[in-house]
Amino acid sequence: MSTDSRRRTPSVAIIGAGMSGMCMAITLLRAGISDVTVYEKASEVGGTWRDNTYPGLSCDVASRFYQYTFFPNPTWTRFFSPGAEIQSYFTQVADDFGLRGLIRFDTEVVEAAFAEHKWRIRTAGGEQQEVDFLISATGILREPRYPDINGLNDFRGPVMHSARWDHSVPTTGERVAVIGTGSTGVQIVCGLAQTSARLEMFQRSPQWVVPFPNLPYSRRTDVLRRHLPASGRLAYRTYQVVYEILLRAMVEPGWQRTLLGNLCRANLRTVRDPELRRKLTPDYEPMCRRLILSDGFYRALQRDNVDLVTEAIDHVEPRGIVTADGVLHEVDVIALATGFDAHAYMRPMRLTGCDGVSVDEAWAEGPKAYLGVAMPNFPNMFMLMGPHSPLGNYSLIAVAETQADHILGWIDRWRAGQFDSVAPTQAATDAFYAEMRAAMPGTVWTTGCTSWYLGADGLPELWPWTPARYGERLGEPPALDRYELRHVRPIDGEKVSR
Ligand code: NAP
Repeated sequence: MSTDSRRRTPSVAIIGAGMSGMCMAITLLRAGISDVTVYEKASEVGGTWRDNTYPGLSCDVASRFYQYTFFPNPTWTRFFSPGAEIQSYFTQVADDFGLRGLIRFDTEVVEAAFAEHKWRIRTAGGEQQEVDFLISATGILREPRYPDINGLNDFRGPVMHSARWDHSVPTTGERVAVIGTGSTGVQIVCGLAQTSARLEMFQRSPQWVVPFPNLPYSRRTDVLRRHLPASGRLAYRTYQVVYEILLRAMVEPGWQRTLLGNLCRANLRTVRDPELRRKLTPDYEPMCRRLILSDGFYRALQRDNVDLVTEAIDHVEPRGIVTADGVLHEVDVIALATGFDAHAYMRPMRLTGCDGVSVDEAWAEGPKAYLGVAMPNFPNMFMLMGPHSPLGNYSLIAVAETQADHILGWIDRWRAGQFDSVAPTQAATDAFYAEMRAAMPGTVWTTGCTSWYLGADGLPELWPWTPARYGERLGEPPALDRYELRHVRPIDGEKVSR
């Protein structure tokens, strides 16, 4: 009997049909695993790119790099793709790879429990399914964070979170308030500055901004990439190398950190009014928070119809926002660019691993995952974009591909009958965290600032080395002594396909 004929057929459930869930599903299909169910609580694919449609939205990672390697798009229109273009790319991926037949749209998974080497999933509608592997691909920036501002509900006009933009609300010719100065707030200000009658940006903390023009691609490049696919692959690889080199700035001191820091400082000097420049000057190192890329932000802020408000917000009343100095800022619309609960991960789903341990219990002291993808006591469960995945201005699609390949490696070992269930040991997870804690002081994220990067313990929930090192670490054969492998039935048991 050949090894192949003895291979088992796994059933896999993926939660989330966003960028990483689709990546996982396609990776499985390409490996010949077809018993795949993707649960998606919304009615379309795309995740964050489906949910975020605010004006000015574009990706701040180069378009030639922010795409799947197995589905290059020769027709990106700009260096940084507009959000709508990325969403249409993902819908095309879903169509072209036949994913829609696997996806259960409008179906929210509310709980899953591991017992007898299976995950039993329950949806909000009460349906149940048993699978061999459970993969959470629920995204990081998914749960909008609404600010706790007195009187916000009393405002007489519309209040919209950036991730729930209501396009029926007029902003052209209106007075708009934008609360928040992260990547999102900066993009909204750039997107609305020219069309709103008055735009006020409410800043609690200034940000460093590196200028990068978002140039359109010419038709000639389109033709070249259509007819010479190798040029697209070369472009991807080139960007990957450039990002790897430049983003060393995040994880170790060196010329990259100096260069990017100097670019931010030089950009700030383009602000002509010294008072505005002072207000925009952060008191922390560039890149300590996620670096903002924008060519137009300072230009937008210097328009006559745009104001930066640095006085703290005291409360909101029906006519607008009242700051601590007692000034009423009358507006017609309030846009909340106040970010996300970045520490929710797969919660609020109730996931229960071995011995009844829940994710909330396992994460009582903050989210933790071995290599960012697996947890002790949660066998045969993996996650994409889990805690300590490499983030920070790198292409998350590249990270998702690395994680999906790693997870497929485990499923392949299961197919070959090497185990029935696998989870990293607690000791390996603790050692991994000790290793990361030791590396954190070299990173720019610990140089003294607050941001969504930091966990409850004040440590960044990021990968403290280069993304390339992450690829190496996840790509190498796993050290089996770091995993608890269990066998319950012989390879020739009932699940062996012949
Ligand atoms: P964010 O970076 O967490 O920024 C939230 C902003 O809201 C901060 O300026 C924060 O001030 C402010 N804020 C929160 N509560 C407030 C309150 N009660 N009063 C006043 N201000 C308040 O959120 P984000 O801009 O949505 O970005 C989150 C992440 O999304 C980014 O870091 C990035 O990873 C991703 N993103 C990516 C792209 C892309 O192009 N790829 C685009 C947009 C976003 P403090 O700083 O003082 O807390």
